[in-house]
Amino acid sequence: MRTERWLDVARGAGLLSPSGAVAQTIFAEMSELAARTGAVNLGQGFPDVDGPEHLKDAAVAAIRAGHNQYPPGAGIPQLREAVAAHQGRHYGLTVDPGTEVLVTAGATEAIAATILALAGPGDEVLTIEPYYDSYAASIAMAGATHRTIALRPGPDGFHLDPDDARAAFTDRTRLVLVNTPHNPTGTVLTTAELTLLAELAAARDAVIVTDEVYEHLTYDGVRHVPLATLPAAAGRTLTISSAGKSLSFTGWKVGWVHGPAELVTAVRTVKQFLTYVASGPFQYAVAGALSDEDGRTGEYVTGLRTSLQERRDLLVESLDAAGFVTVRPAGTYFVVADAAPLGFDDAVDLCRRLPELAGVVGIPVSAFCAAGSATAQGLRSWVRFTYVKRESVLHRAAEGLARLRG
Ligand SMILES: *Cc1c(COP(=O)(O)O)cnc(C)c1O
Repeated sequence: MRTERWLDVARGAGLLSPSGAVAQTIFAEMSELAARTGAVNLGQGFPDVDGPEHLKDAAVAAIRAGHNQYPPGAGIPQLREAVAAHQGRHYGLTVDPGTEVLVTAGATEAIAATILALAGPGDEVLTIEPYYDSYAASIAMAGATHRTIALRPGPDGFHLDPDDARAAFTDRTRLVLVNTPHNPTGTVLTTAELTLLAELAAARDAVIVTDEVYEHLTYDGVRHVPLATLPAAAGRTLTISSAGKSLSFTGWKVGWVHGPAELVTAVRTVKQFLTYVASGPFQYAVAGALSDEDGRTGEYVTGLRTSLQERRDLLVESLDAAGFVTVRPAGTYFVVADAAPLGFDDAVDLCRRLPELAGVVGIPVSAFCAAGSATAQGLRSWVRFTYVKRESVLHRAAEGLARLRG
């Protein structure tokens, strides 16, 4: 039996242990550890309070109205129109809902289908490092080569080094996948950083792919700038987002990708044979939500942003008080913290001991890096924590973290 192919995928995704066995992901290991020890789980990034009741009612109403068979392959027209209108309203983009929008099973499927459609053996796919874990797996499934540009910590947050960015692009660069607001660091890339990436992509005739699932979750008045709005990125950008994070319904898995019709058609060709379609009734609920920004849904998202900013502050203050060095995130569900000042050089080791030491679970940032990379080495002592948990939970985490110092 030939089984090498999935081993390539597992290797590409960093899921193979040195012995060649498929390693449990650190995410699963840490969730198990939290369950076993009763520690506060600040590892996995999902809200512990659901999104608004009126959207649950809308999903139930869609089921009762009989929207229970396969929706159209590109997604229901109402949702494609709502996505196009959303992009116009927020960013001034003109999007044709008929040919330039594809609804997907969350952002995850949009990312996988895009990479599988547009990159293959001999092609290079560039991402920022650290990166969301599905990127490496999808690039490996496509048989393409993964190259990265490091996001480096400095006194004013994480930034891309322009020389690193220039050096990462080659004649083989087919795709550059840019995630902002950025998981795990919470960085919102600046217009200057995005412009450089767009210009470098244009110079190599590479397609730009964006992951903007946290587009509405930015703090302190910082604004998210979609790459598709920059002149150098025009005509070569696929924009990916999803309802999961903005509406606190991560299980609904309604995502979308929009961009030039020929690129969207290529992605659809692959998507057709991954899931074909997904989340039928939820597409109706999300279409209603995106069209309700002046109503209860808009109010909900504004309230979520304010409350997440407060919860960010609570967790950042607890981590600082415990002796970590943090970088205050301008967006997302996450903050990263350096444990080196506390005397811990290896975050993997620290995360295994954190339940006992502080009653808390986090994820080592190296889990978002290529095994043994320079970036992984540089961020060896950093841990990612989520603050998308109730305040009472974050207070309990704060009490535990305070023990680290004592
Ligand atoms: C959560 C997340 C996703 C996945 O989005 P879904 O819509 O749930 O598939 C993609 N990218 C990043 C950076 C995320 O944090």
